[in-house]
Amino acid sequence: MAMLYLTHAECLEHREPDGHPEQAARLLAVERALAGMALDRREAPLAARDDVLRCHPEGYIARVERAMPAAGWAMLDGDTYLAPGSLRAALRAVGGVCAAVDAVLADEARRAFVACRPPGHHAETARAMGFCLFGSVAIGAKRALDHHGLSRVAVLDFDVHHGNGTQDLLWDEPRAMFVSSHQMPLYPGSGLASEVGAHGQILNLPLRSGSGGGAMRAAWQPALDRVAAFRPDLILISAGFDAHADDPLAGLEWETQDFAWLTGAICKLADTCCGGRVVSVLEGGYDLPALAASVAAHVDKLREE
Ligand SMILES: [Zn+2]
Repeated sequence: MAMLYLTHAECLEHREPDGHPEQAARLLAVERALAGMALDRREAPLAARDDVLRCHPEGYIARVERAMPAAGWAMLDGDTYLAPGSLRAALRAVGGVCAAVDAVLADEARRAFVACRPPGHHAETARAMGFCLFGSVAIGAKRALDHHGLSRVAVLDFDVHHGNGTQDLLWDEPRAMFVSSHQMPLYPGSGLASEVGAHGQILNLPLRSGSGGGAMRAAWQPALDRVAAFRPDLILISAGFDAHADDPLAGLEWETQDFAWLTGAICKLADTCCGGRVVSVLEGGYDLPALAASVAAHVDKLREE
């Protein structure tokens, strides 16, 4: 049973202003990195509105639709833009995660990697931010709970930035455990260890700039023990690769093998608690060679573990 890989060419049409780090070339680098691998390649479908509504109110969706430019760009905040193709790209990102959840829960595959853009983990309930429009991974978690009837899901976020959006969307959801490691201080500024969610189901792991792979492993090992105790029926990953030493936006100084180690540890945990079911979703990662190498190591571990 081959691992699933979901993407869509329309995700390249979320065209970025000159010099913006969240660029279409990121997806092309991912595509090249995975080109030689045996994967079950599928197109990410457009999300149904009902799925977006699992996490965002109608008024917010309408506000994004109204802001869509006919040409050029519209800015939703200082670094979150809309191009003419952005809405369809964002709906592919949400749809890709939902389709991956559906396929893994239908036993069509044990593992899936969704490589779409824009990313999603900074998008709050009614606020686009940090390059993100809709909270794709949180919507996937809600779909697993509410559409498929799972009892518990875990969302594990190792992007270098705090997943403030996912935290916001899942804050009051006792059936979803959210764990985020991130550099602190850094954008967006949230993610203190004292932020634990309405039901104590959120675990934040702030890491110091320059702390490296050793500190990451020391933080994640006990966190994964807590995830195991939560007994999720499905694990979703917010897979950002901007903690890499070569990334221009941050300074956690992880190496490619650190992403492989963490992915392997998550897969081993999934094997013990949820039949190995993991849906991984691309978030950040802005140095193209580091992104390509790290994604290849991540997907390789997802395939073999
Ligand atoms: Zn990031």
